[in-house]
Amino acid sequence: MPKLCVMPGDGIGQEVIPAAVAVLQAVIPDLETVEAEAGWACFLKNGASMPESTLATIRDCGAGLFGAVSSPSHKVEGYRSAIITMRQALNLYANVRPVQSWPHVSPRPGIDMIIVRENTEGLYSGRERIVDSEQFTVNSGQSGESSIQNRQSEIVLTAVAERVITRKASLRIAEKTKQIMTSQGREKLTIVHKANVLPITDGLFRDCVKEVFQEISATSAPTSARLSTSLRFKIDELLVDVAALKMLEDPERFDVIVTTNLFGDILSDAASYWGGGLGLAPSLNWGDGIAVAEPVHGSAPDIAGQGIANPIAAILSAAMLARYVWDLEEAAIRMETAVAHTLTHHPNLNTTQAITSAILNEI
Ligand code: NAD
Ligand code: MN
Repeated sequence: MPKLCVMPGDGIGQEVIPAAVAVLQAVIPDLETVEAEAGWACFLKNGASMPESTLATIRDCGAGLFGAVSSPSHKVEGYRSAIITMRQALNLYANVRPVQSWPHVSPRPGIDMIIVRENTEGLYSGRERIVDSEQFTVNSGQSGESSIQNRQSEIVLTAVAERVITRKASLRIAEKTKQIMTSQGREKLTIVHKANVLPITDGLFRDCVKEVFQEISATSAPTSARLSTSLRFKIDELLVDVAALKMLEDPERFDVIVTTNLFGDILSDAASYWGGGLGLAPSLNWGDGIAVAEPVHGSAPDIAGQGIANPIAAILSAAMLARYVWDLEEAAIRMETAVAHTLTHHPNLNTTQAITSAILNEI
């Protein structure tokens, strides 16, 4: 019996996650769910955005469904993003983001790709620091001996973020990509990197992916052999800036993309345009024997509480749990078909409630 840790989080997470759970329960009646806290409101209440107890519940269930969190864009003492903490603590090293054309909402038909983004290191390794700053004293208050106050302030001159790429993480993301391609019958892989400017880090990433796909060890073959196409898979590579252009002008060329953390984040948000936008973009954070599904969108404070958030991204994320984690392909297809039918027959629904009811009706 599948078990699911449900974490609505902040903002519209509170609105779209209950909708996704209702749809999941309609196709998997014996699903067991446990609620857990995470996010900004949770941080304000408990002093942690991703409490140990929540991590323990996800581990116990083996699967989670996460809504969204609100993160402040300035530094808050003791705060760390719930989602990044969770990805690293549970070693959810692959972020799988499918993008496909949907009726009515997609700008054009025929697009069907999966972006596999490395999820634990790269520029999001959390190694960010100030290396050079100047202290100065501000003189505030009015003149007059007793009211003058001196305050120490700081001007940051240089700040550094380390972009970490390891052989271990690069090999395992490649293995996961291969597993996905094999199970989905997909043959064409594009490795996206920036090895012309970052030859050591992105060169390592690219070579590790090729090593896994070509089943030739890095040292045992000449470069020409390493660049050859494997028997089962067609492999090409693109620099990330060219990949961004291709994503705009020729999205049909992509089947599966594997890339590093930041590039994957940006490219997949852009790619979600073809799937009808952020309101329809699903993702799965996936490690070994554990996974957390999560819509790509954030907490959308501009529309939170209005009942107009699109629940489809969350519902399609839940379908990814059925497909990849619980091996319930048929349940995943039922959910996706219900979404497609709803978009076809009821294209003008615009509340969370109405869209969810229509999808439940289709099921
Ligand atoms: P956002 O994804 O929350 O919103 C971007 C835009 O898309 C907004 O106009 C929003 O109204 C719209 N939108 C998003 N989801 C929608 C849906 N389901 N239905 C209809 N419209 C939708 O991104 P943002 O505004 O840049 O960030 C808001 C907050 O969310 C920030 O605190 C940010 O840190 C956080 N965030 C969290 C995650 C996450 O939890 N994984 C991801 C991105 C941003
Ligand atoms: Mn993003």
